Amino acid sequence: MPEFNCDLHFHGPYSTGVSKNMLIPIIAEQSKLKGLHVCGMADMLQGTWFKHLKENIVEKENGVFVDKKEQVYFIPQVEIQCNRRLHHLVFLPDFASAENLKKSLEGKAVFDSWGCGRPVIRLSPEEIAGKVKDVGGIIGPAHAFTPYFSVYAHFDSIQKAYGSMGKEISFLELGLSADTVTADKIPENRQYQFLTNSDSHSPWPYRIGREFTQIEMKEPSFKELKKALEKIEMKEPSFKELKKALEKKEDKKLKLNVGLDPREGKYHLSACNSCYLKFSFEDAKKLNWRCPQCRGAIKRGVKDRIEMLSDGKNEHPDFRPKYIHTVPLAEIIQLALDVKGINTKSVQSMWRDFIERFGTEINILVDASEEELKEVNPKVGQKIVSFRKGFVYYIPGGGGNYGKPVICDSKEEFEKTKKQLELEEKEKNSFNGQKNLTEF
Ligand SMILES: [Zn+2]
Ligand SMILES: [Zn+2]
Repeated sequence: MPEFNCDLHFHGPYSTGVSKNMLIPIIAEQSKLKGLHVCGMADMLQGTWFKHLKENIVEKENGVFVDKKEQVYFIPQVEIQCNRRLHHLVFLPDFASAENLKKSLEGKAVFDSWGCGRPVIRLSPEEIAGKVKDVGGIIGPAHAFTPYFSVYAHFDSIQKAYGSMGKEISFLELGLSADTVTADKIPENRQYQFLTNSDSHSPWPYRIGREFTQIEMKEPSFKELKKALEKIEMKEPSFKELKKALEKKEDKKLKLNVGLDPREGKYHLSACNSCYLKFSFEDAKKLNWRCPQCRGAIKRGVKDRIEMLSDGKNEHPDFRPKYIHTVPLAEIIQLALDVKGINTKSVQSMWRDFIERFGTEINILVDASEEELKEVNPKVGQKIVSFRKGFVYYIPGGGGNYGKPVICDSKEEFEKTKKQLELEEKEKNSFNGQKNLTEF
């Protein structure tokens, strides 16, 4: 059965903070260069965007959608905010079910104004899940761990958040600040399928597809996606129960999660949201979540939130696919050439040289051999290989500030850099003469 690289969460230009270039023909063209096969349709409940989708996407066969040049497939998708300030990721069978969902939510939200691509619905998570189910769709928490609009920001349990609809939830989206290792620390999550999506607001390949999930499907349709995300039925979320359930389950359909290292996420560590000073969980608590440097608010990081809910075990269910950490190619080129911007001419022209040779970014980052890579450019080739070998130190993100990878060229250089940067981080994040962050 074919496997598809799927990035199933985007936003259109009628959501706030989204690039004007976020249009289907550009998304399709750039996604193809990235190496994606399936994209989400984004913001389906927003009227102007819905019209744009209908003009630019065609139904190739029953439930299979493509752009007009047939560059990538699309699956109907929208993100919704509920009255508890949670973001939910919704997948739908087709255009008609999106219209039906919108109708059923009439009077509960503003849909069509500019900035309403992600509508704020005055209903509970349970009620919204019910409406989605009624039109044949599926729903799960988006970026489940981030400190503002996520299920774990406001609830201790996904089941509880969705009330009587909790049993219907089969998947969660990890978000940029979490990966499989961190998410599975919470016992309840071991029954869910994990999706990795970019949540991109811009169509360029250093944003789009920076996270994606490889899924086995007969064809890239909602029906097949739903099958792939099917819930593992268990009496209780224990490892024993899971093993039992899996003996009954057909082969696993999710093949691979690909995404940023959680340390790159902008809410990885607890940190001040105005001066970005980072804090250990213990220190943040002692300081009553107030920054001693600027009096700003300390935002609880994903790492600390997960630790709070963890059972201390490092267990993964058998169906959990491998998770590969990645960095967008343009970012690697920028590091290799040692230039300032990711949009500079030298980075962009080098990016094109590599794409011309290997076809897609995913081929370059994952598949191409060291020799071939170095033929195009020795410095960039070396950085890609070093990244694959794990010679990367991450300056962790926090408080809304992205983390940053530092890719070293050898194990020795990596050990040296790590020591030095850890020390620098401790210095930078000390307050009242006290050094915090004993551990990253
Ligand atoms: Zn969101
Ligand atoms: Zn501060």
